[in-house]
Amino acid sequence: ADKIQMKTPLVEMDGDEMTRVIWKMIKDILLTPYIDLKTEYYDLGLEYRNQTKDQVTIDSAEATKKYGVAVKCATITPNAQRVEEYNLSEMWKSPNGTIRALLDGTVFRSPIIVKGITPYIPTWTKPITIARHAYGDVYKNTEMVVGAGDKAELVVTKPDGTEERSLIHDFGTPGIIQGLHNIDKSIGSFARACFNFALDTHQDLWFATKDTISKKYDHRFKDIFQEIYDAEYKEKFEAAGIEYFYTLIDDAVARVVRSEGGYIWACKNYDGDVMSDMVATAYGSLAMMTSVLVSPDGVYEYEAAHGTVQRHYYKYLKGETTSTNSVATLFAWTGALRKRGELDQLPQLCDFADKLEQATIQTIEDGVMTGDLYLLSSLENKQKVDTEAFLVAVNDRLQALLK
Ligand code: NAD
Repeated sequence: ADKIQMKTPLVEMDGDEMTRVIWKMIKDILLTPYIDLKTEYYDLGLEYRNQTKDQVTIDSAEATKKYGVAVKCATITPNAQRVEEYNLSEMWKSPNGTIRALLDGTVFRSPIIVKGITPYIPTWTKPITIARHAYGDVYKNTEMVVGAGDKAELVVTKPDGTEERSLIHDFGTPGIIQGLHNIDKSIGSFARACFNFALDTHQDLWFATKDTISKKYDHRFKDIFQEIYDAEYKEKFEAAGIEYFYTLIDDAVARVVRSEGGYIWACKNYDGDVMSDMVATAYGSLAMMTSVLVSPDGVYEYEAAHGTVQRHYYKYLKGETTSTNSVATLFAWTGALRKRGELDQLPQLCDFADKLEQATIQTIEDGVMTGDLYLLSSLENKQKVDTEAFLVAVNDRLQALLK
């Protein structure tokens, strides 16, 4: 049969360790036999990042802005040990952080749900997507330890040199202080990214802060969301039959736990950090979480939510059998291919992405899975397979679906 043709290339960001091994297997076994794969390739593997002084990461982000859709493999964020292991000239920054800063994007993470793996909260039968604001608050803080007798104030110096002051605390005994900030523009971009994603995926959007206690800071988040919603999205939401819903963070947590899922939960930076781990754990596994970075001007970068699975890679290097879960990486590819198909009006490409996802879920529901899921699955006929055998089993089902 003829291969599916593409119009615009995907920006392909290769990565490190076991996920780099999986990356190639996915392409060889499940993509290139069916698609005349067009990509613009950027090697974000640590060696090449080091060789190019990390320029390749910046180039890949610029290419993403140009073409609109990227797919990214997990990459090493170097620490002292990696500097030694890879003989790095510098401790390069996290590629995800660099790309996120250049695209000014919001990350959306959703679980992939399969029968046989029951979430720790069994009523969560639909995915809960977490959207995390990626700028400011406690992640860009200034803090101090203060002593007895110290007086702490907030001081704002205006362009004309005048000052506005507000007392934080008169310290009778030693203590601590912290200064936080955020920017209206960033909050607005975050809000738009969330509203657009809700429309795109046809799900309700929830947003929550602690505005009853933080009457200016958190309240500003609430107001910006509401203003943008009323001015730009209300009619579109009504037409799509979806809802925007604001509540207090404590009320949101209570509702989330009692819910069946099926919505997007927009979180401030810190809340998103904490809640995304809670949600991922409750659904079972980081290897079953998709993650997509969406910029305010509609650029998409798809990735897996997990890291490079270093421990498996060292086994692989020793020639031992590995059973690494490739589902999140595979769904990064299907997400990117489907989005490319939508933008370029290639229904065949979208259909292929849908069927590949279907084949993957079917494989696991048939009982064929990697070791991490084998431990979680309640299926009686479950069978643990190695990294490559899993992809081959997916291909068997894909072929049947494409007939
Ligand atoms: P990791 O996600 O690679 O592994 C964490 C744990 O989860 C390990 O026990 C691992 O065996 C298990 N696990 C994760 N993904 C799995 C999969 N697909 N199949 C089976 N088991 C899986 O995180 P880590 O060990 O903390 O970090 C390893 C490297 O990954 C580090 O160098 C780190 O910088 C990098 N990292 C990259 C990203 C990214 O690029 N998005 C995210 C996190 C960590």
